[in-house]
Amino acid sequence: MIIFDQVSKSYEGGHQALRELSFHLPKGEMRFLTGHSGAGKSTLLKLIMMMERPTSGQVIVNDRNLGKLPARRVPEVRRDIGVVFQNHQLLFDRSVFDNVALPLIIAGYGHRDVGRRVRAALDKVGLLDKERKNPMALSGGEQQRVGIARAVVNKPPLLLADEPTGNLDPELSAEIMHLFEQFNQVGVTVLIATHDISLIARMPYRLISLREGRLISAAGDNLGAR
Ligand code: ADP
Ligand code: ADP
Repeated sequence: MIIFDQVSKSYEGGHQALRELSFHLPKGEMRFLTGHSGAGKSTLLKLIMMMERPTSGQVIVNDRNLGKLPARRVPEVRRDIGVVFQNHQLLFDRSVFDNVALPLIIAGYGHRDVGRRVRAALDKVGLLDKERKNPMALSGGEQQRVGIARAVVNKPPLLLADEPTGNLDPELSAEIMHLFEQFNQVGVTVLIATHDISLIARMPYRLISLREGRLISAAGDNLGAR
């Protein structure tokens, strides 16, 4: 699903965020992306989402070589990727339903499909009864679940998350991680950036661990599969 081959990324001003990074995330796997603040996690996710382009090396997502893809094909890449953010980025001027519906409206789905899919997504995150509420009226954990429903409503084969539990207490964080596991169990490829080592320590998933933009090996892990 995702292949990084010798990928480096330098930002303007010369800061090198990623250094010759190679890894392979097979379809259907779930992995955690770890490393201290500044290690390059967000940069790695942005390359996958085509919010940034690599300075050198190849990024291949869902059989598309992103470095060679013209800008007009960026929306096609993004349609295959659901993204969950730390601060969920919900819109407070509309209901939970309308927040989750947004990607479908943008993709041009009809009224009936939107209703059916939004309710299916809200059901999966346990918030079917909250569809008419304003997200402001929900707890932090519920808001993050709305963010997850919005990320999966389009049924993307790939789900990315950038510190999805950053603002939640340990119990709610575990619930959110369990939701990601449920999506992975139905075949979604999942990559979650987190520095919450205590949370993921007991979870049976491989890590992609970064330090200063390089891959480092982690206990119980065989990295750099390529
Ligand atoms: P995090 O620690 O969660 O990655 P940051 O505070 O480092 O968040 O970054 C927030 C945003 O600012 C990101 O979009 C990141 O790409 C951008 N950013 C980070 N460092 C710099 C920088 N030195 N110059 C410009 N933008 C930056
Ligand atoms: P992480 O997500 O692991 O905290 P980032 O990918 O946000 O790491 O950042 C990696 C490095 O790149 C940091 O040193 C950060 O300051 C720098 N950086 C990130 N975004 C930008 C940017 N837009 N411009 C310049 N430097 C950036």
